[in-house]
Amino acid sequence: MEERARQLVENLARAREDMAEAARLAGRDPAEVALVAISKTHPASDVAALFAAGQRVFGESYAQEAKDKREELAHLPIEWHFVGGLQRNKAKLVAGECALIHAVDSLRLAEAVDRKAAERGVVQDVLLQVNSAGEEQKHGVSEAELPALAEAVTAMPALRLKGLMVLPPFFDDPERARPFFARARELKEDLERRLSMGLPHLSMGMTGDFAAAIAEGATLVRIGTRIFGQRDYSNR
Ligand SMILES: *Cc1c(COP(=O)(O)O)cnc(C)c1O
Repeated sequence: MEERARQLVENLARAREDMAEAARLAGRDPAEVALVAISKTHPASDVAALFAAGQRVFGESYAQEAKDKREELAHLPIEWHFVGGLQRNKAKLVAGECALIHAVDSLRLAEAVDRKAAERGVVQDVLLQVNSAGEEQKHGVSEAELPALAEAVTAMPALRLKGLMVLPPFFDDPERARPFFARARELKEDLERRLSMGLPHLSMGMTGDFAAAIAEGATLVRIGTRIFGQRDYSNR
């Protein structure tokens, strides 16, 4: 195995061990938490190496890059997620092409994704990105607007609401992200009552704070740097 592939596979194993440990410490079954390996800016060959080591779920953040990588790796049964902010005019690159879209945050974006999924004759699973940090963050629906958006999405024929996603501000100390994760779980539980339906997913936690997110109920953690190393945005 070449050196890069060996390093990736080792990083993956360590990340999985740490996830399992965080789950056990929280009294959770490690099998309840899935790893979405965030491959943005990294080559398809890295994804293929991790796939060969058993990783099946990968997440991308840029619509065109995601499409190019999906095409390059079309021979592998990868479960692709789209985790980045999505512009409405890029909805056609993603809707019906990814198993799960993590960051739907407006009615107009939801409508665009619904329309494209319907055109393709598929039902698209989505999460709503909620912004519990107030003005500090530009992405995500506000807590006040979340219930109305969730109700609208559940009424859209080609969308299926699966839960919430949160991306707290960056803190050096991951414990400071923890209240945002706890809040996301509360919001999900409120929505489940309001909509009278189960929402299976809470997408939260990245390289720096996934243990705190798992302690607060994450079902999907989105880990990039810990597996792939630092990103180089210059060749995007
Ligand atoms: C890039 C990205 C990640 C991965 O972040 P790391 O700190 O590298 O683990 C997770 N979530 C989203 C939405 C991202 O854009």
